[in-house]
Amino acid sequence: MIERTGIGASPGIAVGPAHLHVSQLPEITRRRVEDPAAEVERLLRAEASVRTRLSDLAASHGEGSDEAEVIGAHLLLLEDPEFTGEIRDRIESESLCAEAAVSDVTEESAAMLESLDDEYLAARGADVRDVGTQLLRSVLGLPLETWDGLEVPSVLVARDFFPSETATIPPGMALGLCTEEGSATSHIAVFARGMGLPAVVGVDLPATEPGTVIGLDGETGEVYVDPTQGVIRTLRERQEEQRRARASAADRSHQPAMTEDGARIEVAANIGSDTDAARAAATGAEGVGLFRTEFLFLDRTRPISEEEQYEAYRTVLAAFGDHLVAVRTLDVGGDKQVPGIEIGEELNPFLGLRGIRLTLARPDMMRAQLRALLRAGTEGRLAIMAPMVSGMADLLAFRSALAEAERSLISDGLPFTEDYQVGIMIEIPSAALIASRLAPHVDFFSIGTNDLTQYTLAVDRTNREVADRADHLDPAVLRLIGETTSATGEQGPWVGVCGEMGGDPVATPILIGLGVKELSVAIPSVPTIKDRVRALRLEECRELAARCLQAADGAEVRRILEGV
Ligand code: PEP
Ligand code: MG
Repeated sequence: MIERTGIGASPGIAVGPAHLHVSQLPEITRRRVEDPAAEVERLLRAEASVRTRLSDLAASHGEGSDEAEVIGAHLLLLEDPEFTGEIRDRIESESLCAEAAVSDVTEESAAMLESLDDEYLAARGADVRDVGTQLLRSVLGLPLETWDGLEVPSVLVARDFFPSETATIPPGMALGLCTEEGSATSHIAVFARGMGLPAVVGVDLPATEPGTVIGLDGETGEVYVDPTQGVIRTLRERQEEQRRARASAADRSHQPAMTEDGARIEVAANIGSDTDAARAAATGAEGVGLFRTEFLFLDRTRPISEEEQYEAYRTVLAAFGDHLVAVRTLDVGGDKQVPGIEIGEELNPFLGLRGIRLTLARPDMMRAQLRALLRAGTEGRLAIMAPMVSGMADLLAFRSALAEAERSLISDGLPFTEDYQVGIMIEIPSAALIASRLAPHVDFFSIGTNDLTQYTLAVDRTNREVADRADHLDPAVLRLIGETTSATGEQGPWVGVCGEMGGDPVATPILIGLGVKELSVAIPSVPTIKDRVRALRLEECRELAARCLQAADGAEVRRILEGV
């Protein structure tokens, strides 16, 4: 048995065989080859297997379907002299190995198409990347489907996962996740918590054979490779204890959460898809505090259309009836890359073209999303919020994009809601610091503690070397939250927390004490956070929060909270 400790990223215990996952875009080594003709043969064989797979897929979707049409376009690309023809030429004229030729031509053709100021051609760029990636995997002898080799429920082990990969894990096949990269607030942790999957990230795993039994505890960060029977028994006992605690909280999950002294706190869910909505409502969530819409843009080769977005938003709003659904406009950039939305090389992606900065720079994308949201808003209670707002200029630009979307719907004669709330994420310190000036322009603030912690403490949320410094209980972070709540007063905008801190039971008393009215958490945490609220008294929370604001560091905050 080998034992390692990583960062507990999503609670729960997993024990099962390891599935070693190789990332979607394989690394290649450039080589010159002696025999270009043999290399062309390799390419042709790869083309043939991609062709067979695509034809099978097209047949399974049925003639005339949207999917079959996209796949048809991919099949044509395989015959295109400017694509596969060019790859062959490179192998022959430059004696280049097949993988390097596929990689170069894919990148050049896709970049060329994407640089043209034309939505249709930009989408063709995404098609080229998709087919190119499949060809590359085939040339390298890797499975064509990301999850092809996953045949039994397993612990998924990887250096890291792309969002498009986690989005396509076959249902029921992941027992838990274990990655070398990542921190408690990286994409993979957020995904795992949302799915209720135990996860440990940032762990130095030894080279492991596929199928080796892995045991992990997503709370403590313990990982066991090939655990002894004794360790397996202990893990199973803990698993059973956690199951019982969850079941007991679930019994009360549909009742509201009220502190002992009668303060009502809304507990809502964070979701990433229209299918999450039903699950969240069934778990007792009182609405949605954060719909991360970027996940709608994954697992597809072309940007999602206004019509497709409209359908997804309608489903979510309808699932929650009278409860508020806060939809966040696209938050791409940083560690969230989406196929088909090219951002270009950045030295500091978290400080670059991210969130509202990107959507303001691509008004067509913003307009389509806002139109789809306003149209769907007739189905329920809609709130729209913008991510990564750093100050007044972003907020005013967001409001004018909304006004412009309304005008375009009026001129198209399409029905839409005029009765919706507008809010912003508070996740950049500058926004928290001027919250009192932003407040008159919004209905609510939603505090994104993942990024707020990252930007306040200068700790990259994806870098495991500094992950232990990313403490949302640091008094500096708490003061910015306090700055935000005190800027709104009794009559002003309401304040919610939708970052992972909202789902941390240790932090609940401080957040409530600082005046937060809504906690939006991963779906499986809804019952436990409701129970946590019920065990607290608002008056005591206020006193505790005031003391925590004066603490010197996160450790002192934890000491103040001990036993609460
Ligand atoms: C946050 O930053 O806290 C947040 C909720 O947004 P995301 O994790 O999607 O960046
Ligand atoms: Mg964020």
